[in-house]
Amino acid sequence: MAKSLNALRHLARAIIVAVLVLWSPVAALAVVSIVATTTDLKSLAEAVGGGRVSVVALVPPNTDAEEYQPRPHDLNRLKDARLVLRVGVDYDLWLDRLVQQSGNRAIARGGPGYVDCSFGIALLDVRGVQVGPAGGHAHGSGNPHYWLDPVNAEMMTAVILEALVRNDAPNAKYYETQRARFLERLAERVRQWEKTLAVVHGKPLLAYHNTWAYFARRFRLNFVGYIEPRPGLPPRPSQLAALIRVVQSQRVSVIVRQPHEPAASVDFLSAKTGARVVILASSVGAVSAASEYVGLLDYNVRTLAAAFREGL
Ligand SMILES: [Zn+2]
Repeated sequence: MAKSLNALRHLARAIIVAVLVLWSPVAALAVVSIVATTTDLKSLAEAVGGGRVSVVALVPPNTDAEEYQPRPHDLNRLKDARLVLRVGVDYDLWLDRLVQQSGNRAIARGGPGYVDCSFGIALLDVRGVQVGPAGGHAHGSGNPHYWLDPVNAEMMTAVILEALVRNDAPNAKYYETQRARFLERLAERVRQWEKTLAVVHGKPLLAYHNTWAYFARRFRLNFVGYIEPRPGLPPRPSQLAALIRVVQSQRVSVIVRQPHEPAASVDFLSAKTGARVVILASSVGAVSAASEYVGLLDYNVRTLAAAFREGL
């Protein structure tokens, strides 16, 4: 009896403490409010910021970021933000206008809260080619899908860390520790992923869009072609006929598509050639298994490796 009374007293005390902490204006002020354009940047900011940040992503998963139409509540989110994180490389160009409209000068270009996560990233496919607005997005300034190389997360989190320290110096040590732990965990996974993907080495792959340049370089994957003739352009029937020949002559056994990409041309090629379709995710949240950054990479590695193991 005395024991259970004691336990009740402990519980009551714990509840009171929890309520005080949650309501404390000091605790509320300590949280750095961050707006990220994509779910991937949100996940990385949460990895570094831990319990001291509150992050929202503007573009929902399975939405082309370049095609994104900002909504009224996005403006309110930016008004209150201490930091804004963007992909850059022309992937989220609409952000500049939105930030300007918000009147929040701290997060405008050059401001203390402005973070372009492409800073310091060695970009691929830099050709200076602009493609018309035929749906999807062009890769005019280089391939923007750099977050899909997990080693690039090192530079991306370094830039995020620097911005957090600039805006919340008293917690610098906390952020540094959080990032170091995250990178340690990530490096271990990269080693595992390299082993898992050994089954895919040298095997020819086809994808709908060139989302996979960085992922492929890291894990030595061999994408022999893309269904879009150029980023953002859907294939014409004559181009699909040429792709059938590519799949057959190069013995492509797997065609990669993302959940939001058009299924028709991918399914057509699959039906004509017998190559199997594999759904990979390029953003956190695009499939339920990819609930955070490490999970996103893990899902893609496991799914791709499984497709090849099944095909053996
Ligand atoms: Zn792209």
